[in-house]
Amino acid sequence: MPQTRITLDESRLPRRWYNIVPDLPEPPPPPLHPGTRAPLGPDDLTPLFPPDLIAQETSSERYMEIPEPVRDIYRLWRPTPLIRAHRLEKALGTPARIYVKYEGVSPVGSHKPNTAVPQAYYNARAGVRRLTTETGAGQWGSALAFACAQFDLACDVWMVRSSYDQKPYRRTMMELFGAKVHASPSPETSTGAKILSDDPSNPGSLGIAISEAVESATPSDTRYALGSVLNHVLLHQTVIGEEAREQLASINETPDLVIACTGGGSNFAGLAFPFLRDSRETRFLAAEPAACPSLTKGTYAYDYGDTAGFTPLLKMHTLGHDFIPDPIHAGGLRYHGMSPLLSHIYNLSLIEAKAIPQRETFEAATLFARTEGIIPAPEPAHALAAVIAEAKAATTPLVILTSVCGHGHLDLAAYESHLHGTLAEPDPSPRIADALTRLP
Ligand SMILES: *Cc1c(COP(=O)(O)O)cnc(C)c1O
Repeated sequence: MPQTRITLDESRLPRRWYNIVPDLPEPPPPPLHPGTRAPLGPDDLTPLFPPDLIAQETSSERYMEIPEPVRDIYRLWRPTPLIRAHRLEKALGTPARIYVKYEGVSPVGSHKPNTAVPQAYYNARAGVRRLTTETGAGQWGSALAFACAQFDLACDVWMVRSSYDQKPYRRTMMELFGAKVHASPSPETSTGAKILSDDPSNPGSLGIAISEAVESATPSDTRYALGSVLNHVLLHQTVIGEEAREQLASINETPDLVIACTGGGSNFAGLAFPFLRDSRETRFLAAEPAACPSLTKGTYAYDYGDTAGFTPLLKMHTLGHDFIPDPIHAGGLRYHGMSPLLSHIYNLSLIEAKAIPQRETFEAATLFARTEGIIPAPEPAHALAAVIAEAKAATTPLVILTSVCGHGHLDLAAYESHLHGTLAEPDPSPRIADALTRLP
């Protein structure tokens, strides 16, 4: 039987990130200033991000070197395992060969530290003392809290109220790393205070938390950090695909089909872009939740990244900036928009997308846990559901590559609902149609 875990010598750890922009037939449409509606210049971003990240955000260089202090921290968990899912293949009776890149081995259990570490590094190098951010389910907040601890930065996290109440362990993890966690909406920002005065029990949303974190990044020693969506975040995540390429090359495999889940698009881009560079024959499939289907049901238009309208206007597949997704368990996929770079690539028909309902997602996750022993986070379980559907339909030895971008050890309450048959299957269509009437 061929090997189950494909390792990679530490000396083969990627030394550079891959920027797909120069390899595209046309560049993505630029972000616009929310006031003037003119394309943003680098100066517009200076209050939010340090110079190195702004340069990466707007770069058309194909490769960017991973700084040695960042590689040194990456070595705590990288290279991550690439697993051949033999037992899952057998359970499905498929001729397909399924490979899984597993990012759940990071210190916080997801792919998010791949970008949190360089973001903290570049900020610390620029003399920044404090970072603010938002978090939905808590994955990104824990990753940034971990990274800030590595570089002695203070960290303030606005955590969506509903998760703050439901996910006390994520909050503890952030506090353990030294971060300050605020339930959002909070009385500490003008956005939060206004929302609370209208509705004291508002459960919050990622869009509201982003508004609060951006508003709080005003002191001169403070900057803001975003865990997905932006070009520099997608860039940092390409370390996943670069490693997977090396691992597959070492056993003479190339993928026919690459599948990953999409919330803001960063783990999908991180896995897929290095393979998109190589081949126009490989298929790429983004798996998104039916409760928040920005690629398959959204409009490709300029919209705000947050609820209050503080952020630049981004051309993206969007469900409308005030769309509040139902509280499905895949918290990391509950965002109204999709990365502008990934939206552009979808619009160029270089990738496909599929929306997956919640119950099918958890059935896939359960089969994966029982066959491969890894409990996936509910987010990558969407990708696994798509993998299983494709593998069942396969009549040839198709090579499928996917990413389990996080573990589900802190999502057991969601699994409990699944095992007890109490998972909801919300239909967001009427509210999407309504929110899309309010695009700027
Ligand atoms: C944040 C997160 C996501 C969604 O974000 P992307 O930018 O689309 O990758 C998916 N899975 C996990 C485990 C996450 O933490």
